[in-house]
Amino acid sequence: MTSENLLQKYATSAVPRYTSYPTAPHFSTDLSPETCRGWLERVDPSEPVSLYLHLPFCREVCWYCGCNMRLAARYEPVAAYVETLLREIDLVCGFLPGPIEIAHLAFGGGTPTVLEPDDLERVMSALRSRFRLAPGAELSIESDPRTLTDAMSERIGKLGFTRASFGVQEFDPKVQEAIHRIQPPDVVAHAIGGLRRAGVRHINIDLIYGLPHQTVASLTRSIATCLEMRPDRVALFGYAHVPWMAKRQRMIAEDALPGPEERADQAASAAEALISAGYQAIGLDHFAREDDTLAVAARNGELHRNFQGYTTDRARTLLALGATSIGRTPEGYFQNEPVPAAWTQAIEAGRLPVAKGIALTADDSLRAHVIERIMCDAEIDLEAAGHQFGQPDDWSADALEQLRDMAEDGLITLDGGHLKLSEEGRPLVRVVAAAFDRYLARNKARHSVAI
Ligand code: SF4
Repeated sequence: MTSENLLQKYATSAVPRYTSYPTAPHFSTDLSPETCRGWLERVDPSEPVSLYLHLPFCREVCWYCGCNMRLAARYEPVAAYVETLLREIDLVCGFLPGPIEIAHLAFGGGTPTVLEPDDLERVMSALRSRFRLAPGAELSIESDPRTLTDAMSERIGKLGFTRASFGVQEFDPKVQEAIHRIQPPDVVAHAIGGLRRAGVRHINIDLIYGLPHQTVASLTRSIATCLEMRPDRVALFGYAHVPWMAKRQRMIAEDALPGPEERADQAASAAEALISAGYQAIGLDHFAREDDTLAVAARNGELHRNFQGYTTDRARTLLALGATSIGRTPEGYFQNEPVPAAWTQAIEAGRLPVAKGIALTADDSLRAHVIERIMCDAEIDLEAAGHQFGQPDDWSADALEQLRDMAEDGLITLDGGHLKLSEEGRPLVRVVAAAFDRYLARNKARHSVAI
């Protein structure tokens, strides 16, 4: 089947991005905070863990945004949130079996840099007093170049952050207006320069294709501008238009959105521009300089996937703090209350603020492994995976028909138990991964299109 026909058949499939398996729409409110407390108590103290903190506040609302965020017109709600976050650190640490080492810390949002520098320092001091930072631990923070102050840049450097991520998306003024995010290149360059001068060594830039009024030409120009800023990593996401879930996306003019073929052209030409500039393509949507740890991990087959996308983070336990954050232990996933008031109320009552989650079965763990390896390596030895998880025979019965169909279409090759995506199939990796998703058919939750 030609690439064009493959696109026509598969690109409009609604499939998850597989930053977890099972995915969040399949979490259940039946999971109790007491169960999650038991999971935390059984975390192996000899293994490093990862930590994610969520700050759901921004100074402005971008219309494409699908995150859990609130407009912070005043600082008071942000200050109150920080107080609760400090209490949550104490609460969660009280359930853990002793001091634990952190290998990765990510502060996301929202926009964590809307915090006052002193509040960021209080949060980091609380974490440093409760956890041990592993030598060479990665400390990353998301930032909005429009609102990052020089004082905050300096403090981020002083606190030892090693990586900062900037949402750039696209530099074309017409596109920026259509998504309600105006940030000229000099604003972004100033923010990046300030962090570098403060000692933050690594910079990530996020770009998006498939935005209203975006074209191959506008995206190519944006990438050229972005490359002048020498990011270590570039994430290139397809805009996920899901206004039935993210209501602010109703502000986006649907008739200005590019169609599937134009989206595919944008993705392909952007990838080509980044690869020609010396970046290594990683998985579905990341690019990294060859000396970046993500590129090294990809070359060594040690890439992983979590809620931030592709990562070098291999910890089996992720402690997640803040409203809406999702954590996990080897026993399951658990998501905090998304509304800050409910999250605060639970913490004040001394309860884990868990709203929902899922306990993993052996079948879930096997499928999570298969899906993660497909998303990271574009290939998997299915027989070996079945043996590794003690289920060599029956795990793929419901996927076989779809896989045969995909092999006939040239999306994958199936050689005995070895599945490998073809070059044409790589952009449709989410569709291939979805063949192993036992929950997808059962639930009508609507996801974004595959490209
Ligand atoms: S895209 Fe980022 S800065 Fe914009 S509203 Fe969403 S979280 Fe805030």
